[in-house]
Amino acid sequence: MSDSTKKAGPLGWYFNTNLLLRILIGLILGAAAGIIFGPSVSVVQPLGSILVNLLKMIVMPLILTSLVVGAASIQPRELGKIGVRIFVYYMLTSALAVTIGLLTANIFHPGAGLNLGASADAAGKELTQPGFIDTLLAIIPKNPFGALSQGQVLPIIFFALIFGIGISVVRNSEDSRLKKSGEILFFMFDGAAEVMYVIVRWILEYAPIGVFALIAVVFGKQGASAFGSLGLVTLTAYVGFILQIVFVYGVFLIFNKLGYLTFFRGAREAMITAFVTRSSSGTLPITMRNMSENLGVPRKISSFTLPLGATINMDGTAIYMGVCALFITNAVGMEMTLGDQFTIILTAVLASIGSAGIPGAGAIMLLMVLNSIGITIEAGSAVAAAYAMILGIDALLDMGRTITNVTGDMIGTILVSKGEKELDMTKW
Ligand code: ASP
Repeated sequence: MSDSTKKAGPLGWYFNTNLLLRILIGLILGAAAGIIFGPSVSVVQPLGSILVNLLKMIVMPLILTSLVVGAASIQPRELGKIGVRIFVYYMLTSALAVTIGLLTANIFHPGAGLNLGASADAAGKELTQPGFIDTLLAIIPKNPFGALSQGQVLPIIFFALIFGIGISVVRNSEDSRLKKSGEILFFMFDGAAEVMYVIVRWILEYAPIGVFALIAVVFGKQGASAFGSLGLVTLTAYVGFILQIVFVYGVFLIFNKLGYLTFFRGAREAMITAFVTRSSSGTLPITMRNMSENLGVPRKISSFTLPLGATINMDGTAIYMGVCALFITNAVGMEMTLGDQFTIILTAVLASIGSAGIPGAGAIMLLMVLNSIGITIEAGSAVAAAYAMILGIDALLDMGRTITNVTGDMIGTILVSKGEKELDMTKW
C-alpha cells in the first residue's frame, strides 16, 4: 500500500498515488483500451506478461521459505490441529460451492435452446485428464528439487512442511549442538522469507501497469462477443461466484463476529489481483501480504493454509464446474438426473483439489467431471462444440473463478486463525 515516505522525481506522482487506486485505474483504462482498439491491443501483452512472470518468479521461493519457517515455528502437534481444521473447511466450502453452481444453473438454464448440431469440433485442442489417484500420489515428490524447479506446488508444500517440522524437532533438541544448528537453519529461512516479502512489495509497484495490459488483451480479443451468446452462462456463473463471496463467506464471517467490510478492505488487493491474473498461485504473494499486514493473520498460519488453499481449495472452480456441466448437457439436449448432479458434486470437489492455481486449469479439469457422468469429448461432436464455446470465454469465467478461489482461501485462513485464538483482533 501507500508508503508514508513520499517519493520525489519524475515518477513521484506514480509511486505516491495509493496502490489500489492505481490498480483500479489500470483496470478501467485496460478495459477501455481493449474495447477501443480491439485485437490490435495485444501489442501491450508483454507488459502483462511481465507482471505474471514476476509473480511466478517469486511464488516458489516464497512458498518454500515461508512454509518452512511456518512449519518450523509451530509445534508438530499444533500443526496437525490447524491442518485438520483448514482441510475440513476447504472441503466443506468446495462442496457448498458446486451445489450453488448447480442450483443457479438449474434456475437460469444456460445453454438451453442452443440445440447444437454435431458440426463443430473441439477447436483442435488435445486434452488429457489427470487421474485423481495419480494426482494424490504425486503430492509426494520423488525429487523435491525437481518439483521446485518445475513449479509443482503441492509436492513442495509437502516437502517444505516435513522439512520445517524437521527443523522444529532439531531446534527443540536437548543436544546443544543440534539445537544450535536448528536455530541457524531456522533463522536462515526466516531471513530468506523476509527478503521474499520485500521483493513482493517491489513487484506490487509494477502491478497497475501489468493489470492494464492483461485486461486490455482480454477485452480486445473478446469484447462484445464475450457478452453475446455466452452471456447467460457467464451471468449464471457470476451469480454463483457472488452468492459464494457475499452470502456464504459473509455468513461465515458474521457467525465468527468478524466484519465483512473490514475483510473486504483488507483483502481487496489480493481479490483484484486474483481477478486479473487468473491465478491463485500467482496471487499468493499478495494474498499472504494482505492477510498478515491488513487482517492480523499470523504468518505461521497463513504460510501453511494459503499455499495449500491456492492449490486445493477452489470454490470458484467448483461453482464453474456445476454451471458448465449443466450448460453442456443443456446445449446438447441431454437430460441430467439428480444422481448425475450428486456425482458432479463429488467429482467437482475432487477435480477442484486437482486443479492447479494457474489460468485455465479448471477448464481442463472440467473434463474429469463430465467424464464422471458419462460425457466424453469426441472431436466433431455436439459436446465438443459446447465445450469449445466455454473454452472460448474461459478468460472471463476464470477471472470470476479465481477471485472466488482466493477469497475462499483467505476466509478459511482467517477462521482458522480465529479458532486458534491467533487472530490479531486489533485489526478488526
Ligand atoms: N485459475 C484458477 C485459479 O488459479 C484455477 C482454474 O482455472 O479454475 O485459481
